[in-house]
Amino acid sequence: MSSPRDTRVETPPAEAPATTVIGGGIAGLLVALRLAEGGHRVTLLEAADRLGGQLAPQRLAGVELDAGAESFATRGTAVTALLTELGLDGDVVIPGGGTAWLHRARGAVPLPAAGVLGIPAHPLAPDVVRAIGLAGAWRARLDAVLPRRVGGDATTLGELVEARMGRAVLDALVTPVVRGVYSREPGDLPLAVAAPTLLDRLRQHGSLAAAVAGLRANAPAGSLVASLRGGMFRLAAALADACRASGVDLRTGVRVDALPPGRVVLAAPAPGAAPGRTVTVVTLVVRTPLLDGAPRGSGVLVAPGGGVEARALTHLTAKWDWIADAFEGAHALRLSYDGVPTDAVAQARRDASTIFGVDLPDPLDSAVRTWHRPAPETHDDGTLRTGEPVAGSGLAAVVAHAESLAAAILTDSRPAATGERMDG
Ligand SMILES: Cc1cc2nc3c(=O)[nH]c(=O)nc-3n(C[C@H](O)[C@H](O)[C@H](O)COP(=O)(O)OP(=O)(O)OC[C@H]3O[C@@H](n4cnc5c(N)ncnc54)[C@H](O)[C@@H]3O)c2cc1C
Repeated sequence: MSSPRDTRVETPPAEAPATTVIGGGIAGLLVALRLAEGGHRVTLLEAADRLGGQLAPQRLAGVELDAGAESFATRGTAVTALLTELGLDGDVVIPGGGTAWLHRARGAVPLPAAGVLGIPAHPLAPDVVRAIGLAGAWRARLDAVLPRRVGGDATTLGELVEARMGRAVLDALVTPVVRGVYSREPGDLPLAVAAPTLLDRLRQHGSLAAAVAGLRANAPAGSLVASLRGGMFRLAAALADACRASGVDLRTGVRVDALPPGRVVLAAPAPGAAPGRTVTVVTLVVRTPLLDGAPRGSGVLVAPGGGVEARALTHLTAKWDWIADAFEGAHALRLSYDGVPTDAVAQARRDASTIFGVDLPDPLDSAVRTWHRPAPETHDDGTLRTGEPVAGSGLAAVVAHAESLAAAILTDSRPAATGERMDG
């Protein structure tokens, strides 16, 4: 584990380039830190009364847990490198709890193991046949002999999967995974966002299954996601501390409705941007031996028509050892909803009971947190932008984007000292 960062506060000279960063989520904090480290005088303006945005803690039964993002994708190195730099690498944890499950009207099945976004790499594998039936699996297998131009002009994940593998794969596998991960329908999810290289791989390999197998082979070994012991929100807290130590002027409770003059980095939705999606996370703590064996592994994705309103359930105490240790035998469940469910805790208890096929007792504690996820924004008016609306959803995408924007700003704003010396 690397040593914690220096905590002395550095004050940049008055003539240093000044930058205002709007938005104090992970993107804004990271850009602010990099610019301050590069010698800028940085002021960060955050509308809420706390920093961190979609990384936030909540307390249940005396234990602090994530209310927002609870993990990060391990593709790419940006998040891991940042955690190492902040001295948090020793606390990186990978999930346990076994496979995820699929909840369907016809009963629960383990989610097929070899796939990407629910698209199977081996359509006739026994776990795929079990999930979608033999007829659906054979239709998916047709993908291997269809001309490679079929689906080649698809723009969304839904179009591509239906054209190549048929409705059973789309409805029973891809839809629940995409709802669980992106809270969107596959037909509304641009390929450019979900899997930018999939069409190229289809052209190269000749089938979608082979393209998916290729993608999986290229993924790093080990778990596809990781988290932090103590909660992912610790990343935002550590970044805020690093910002303070680097002299960033962090101001909370300041909503910016019009961009201020001077150099501005917008790390929040643009003022007046279209509203995004509303999602609600309900966390329940229950004490019951019925869940001790983690009967649905690390959690469940819900297929349409399964009699459950939640789109996903995570069995937190099965998935993360540190959470199991903290709750000392009680179980923590996290259910995700689109919108705001009526009587959310009662609904979550009903949904969890249906998913596990048991009658769960009243929770010892519960929390309901509603989030407004930003809509993607493509309009380019020349403003320096980073954060989820332009980088895409998820910490891996947001951190990588913020790092490269900050590097580009620092390169641009570096004084032309070398050229001047040569001329002189
Ligand atoms: C419930 C949930 C679960 C998630 N799970 C995962 C996961 O498991 N893995 C993963 O990788 N990602 C996950 N994410 C997504 C991830 O958290 C986000 O992609 C990431 O945190 C976005 O960071 P950001 O800085 O771009 O935006 P935000 O965190 O949204 O920060 C933007 C900040 O700007 C502020 N702001 C907005 N408007 C203004 C204004 N006008 N003036 C001043 N300030 C303003 C906001 O208050 C906010 O603090 C999850 C998100 C949620 C909500």
